Amino acid sequence: MQVPDIIIAIDGYSSTGKSSFAKIVANEFSFTYLDSGALYRAVTLFAMENGFIDADNTIDVPGLEKAMEDLDLHFGEGGTYIGDRCIEEEIRSLAIAGKVSPIATVPQVRSFVDKKLREFGKKRRIVMDGRDIGTTVFPDAELKIFMTADPMIRAQRRAAEMEAKGMKAELSEVLKNLQERDHIDSTREVSPLTQAADAIVLDNSHMTIEDQMAWVKNIISERFGC
Ligand code: C5P
Repeated sequence: MQVPDIIIAIDGYSSTGKSSFAKIVANEFSFTYLDSGALYRAVTLFAMENGFIDADNTIDVPGLEKAMEDLDLHFGEGGTYIGDRCIEEEIRSLAIAGKVSPIATVPQVRSFVDKKLREFGKKRRIVMDGRDIGTTVFPDAELKIFMTADPMIRAQRRAAEMEAKGMKAELSEVLKNLQERDHIDSTREVSPLTQAADAIVLDNSHMTIEDQMAWVKNIISERFGC
């Protein structure tokens, strides 16, 4: 399938399988996959390690804003990096997941991340997943997909994924975390998680990855005549 030089924006709730789907879509069409959530997670790790967020999620916004001026965040071999340190494993922990949504409400953090994402997107032929890609980061993306799935199914998938990586995952904790994140993400003031008016909904509660690929290929061939 010869897909034109488009941007594919994939947004949706936590643990709906956005990144697995986005990676496979990117691979299928020889696009670059970019994980916007990884940058929010990386800023969260940075904020935690440098004391810009405390146990009650109070954030030292001026301190964090200043420190981000020298923060070298990028994607490289094996995932996300701060400078030459690969942080891909660390940013997937429940400790980071518990702090990332408050960090992602900070407008200065959002503009820092948005700037990076738009730079990465200049090349086009990208699949980017997140919460506000189709609404804020790339409102002109040619294809916008909004992913959703039943919360319990999402929690089960996430717990299985964590266990497979050898991380401890209590199902009730995972469910609680993703519901909290959905709530914070959907109700924050800046760039809340909402479906773009021109996004197509993909509810994959009962779909395999093959079903999802067949679905997206069908949409792409209809829309772009390829
Ligand atoms: O996608 P992932 O679960 O890794 O994202 C982690 C968190 O980063 C989300 O719960 C959300 O708070 C934040 N996020 C965001 N906007 C994006 C991507 C992620 O606010 N575009």
